Amino acid sequence: MQALKERILRDGKCFEGGILKVDNFINHQMDPILMKSMAVEFVRRFAGSDINKVLTIEASGIAPAIMVGYLLELPVVFAKKKKPSTMENMLSTKVFSFTKNNTYDVCVCRDYLHRGDKVLFIDDFLANGNAAKGIIDLVEQSGAELSGMGFLIEKAFQHGGDYLRGQGIHVESLAIIESLDDCQIRLRE
Ligand code: 5GP
Repeated sequence: MQALKERILRDGKCFEGGILKVDNFINHQMDPILMKSMAVEFVRRFAGSDINKVLTIEASGIAPAIMVGYLLELPVVFAKKKKPSTMENMLSTKVFSFTKNNTYDVCVCRDYLHRGDKVLFIDDFLANGNAAKGIIDLVEQSGAELSGMGFLIEKAFQHGGDYLRGQGIHVESLAIIESLDDCQIRLRE
């Protein structure tokens, strides 16, 4: 998606270890106009899919997911990163975060993810695919079906996308980064 690629080249910043900071328009300050355009693009790309629910993980996935849910007029569920003490009936899984170098619990209440649901997962970044694998596990545990996975930015050099596509999952990424070597952002055409 051209507008996102241009924004990444203009405002994205590279950090050690293959991290791209997009705090100026996605991860801290948010640009709602771009966010809406990205959601419109997801709706176009998943137009042929059967979806009744949008799923994401807190916190950075919530903004794009709610925009997609708004356009599709579907509920949006965000998986929580900490098990709330008051929530019963939880499904949970563990996810390794390479940006934070730790493992965290991701959980969702069975009331909001269950058999019969056809789920579109939306998140900000796809890197190694660990968060996505956690979501696949939660969807499987719940008996729901995964209709597709949409990411604002995919870092192709970390190969999570290869894994997901290899599983036959419909994956759409709005901007694909080939490399961040030497702190140069190289985007796929
Ligand atoms: P994965 O689980 O695919 O390895 O990483 C995806 C998650 O890690 C995303 O939800 C995102 O929050 C975070 N992440 C991975 N790479 C980056 C990055 O380069 N920049 C930022 N801001 N977050 C990232």
